Amino acid sequence: MTSDVGTSQWVAAFRRRVRRWYRLHGRELPWKEDADPYSVWVREIMLQQTTVAAVVPYLEKFLDEFPTVTSLAQASEEAVLRVWEGLGYYSRARNLHRAATMIVEEWEGVWPRSADAIECLPGVGRYTASAIASFAFDEAAPIVEANTLRLYSRLLGMVDDPARASGQKQLWAFAERVVPPARPGQFNQALMDLGATVCRSEPLCEECPVRLNCQAFRLGITSRVPMRRRRARITELHETAVVIKRSGDVLMIRYSEEGRWPGLWGFPLISRARGETLDQPTTILDLVREMRARGIDIEFCRQLGEFRHGVTRFRIHLQAADVSWVDGEWNGGERAEWIPIDELSRRPLSVPGRQVAQWIRKPA
Ligand code: SF4
Repeated sequence: MTSDVGTSQWVAAFRRRVRRWYRLHGRELPWKEDADPYSVWVREIMLQQTTVAAVVPYLEKFLDEFPTVTSLAQASEEAVLRVWEGLGYYSRARNLHRAATMIVEEWEGVWPRSADAIECLPGVGRYTASAIASFAFDEAAPIVEANTLRLYSRLLGMVDDPARASGQKQLWAFAERVVPPARPGQFNQALMDLGATVCRSEPLCEECPVRLNCQAFRLGITSRVPMRRRRARITELHETAVVIKRSGDVLMIRYSEEGRWPGLWGFPLISRARGETLDQPTTILDLVREMRARGIDIEFCRQLGEFRHGVTRFRIHLQAADVSWVDGEWNGGERAEWIPIDELSRRPLSVPGRQVAQWIRKPA
């Protein structure tokens, strides 16, 4: 079958149908009317790899804490990470902070209005730049993100891998073709809403306003498009968080830039073999030996608790050991500090670190 997808007539009918559907069925997102570039930027960064439901409370808290780009630039990176704590993918928060500094120091707090210029900011890719430019400045900038990728792939009947360069090229070319000059931000939002609520992984084609525009529907291949990628294999990690106490302080590590929690604080972590637990004397001996290799003699006191946590492609089985310091200073490589237990609430901690901090506060 010859496709008419992308002809002027097709585009006009498609835009009309999308707009009409959006007026009646668009999502009632809390930021629907908010076109301020700063809040659009923060929320779009938060929405990367994170659901709307998870973002809503974080966005509110973030904008309360840092209401303007200047207040964000003036904050410390630790303060920004503390507000971001629990949302994951922490490089996003650090890039926001860096970009805020750039906007204030290099651009005197004035936002560039075009997607091309906005894309120069750290952590801002083509999608985010286009979202800000179209929502905040009415630039007819095209978007491709998870929901629209699915929608466009099906409209085009595209059987290529959408993650490959050739697939990406087709999707962006399609997005450029359909974005209208009038109210492009609203139209982009409508496309995302349509992808999120109708053209879902299991598409609701019977309810779809653009069924007549859809190649995959016509060809009966909606379940095969877009091509699915294999999920990354999950790696199981067994670790012990070592809570080393010394006169009311605990030893905390600032995790490295390359690690799972860049820039966040947590307890020293020791790998355990699967099946090893802190109620086995050999595990405790290994723990003492490992800590000595990092400069600190300890005495094991008790196990604090157990915790399972998923982060990116890892599933961590964590046990926490309550130990007391006997002698020595940390030489394990990362930056370390003795921190009063009461101060832990103010530091940005990894999710397991926060859990362990709560256990510490409970009496033995
Ligand atoms: S007809 Fe089905 S597959 Fe095509 S755009 Fe609509 S919901 Fe998606």
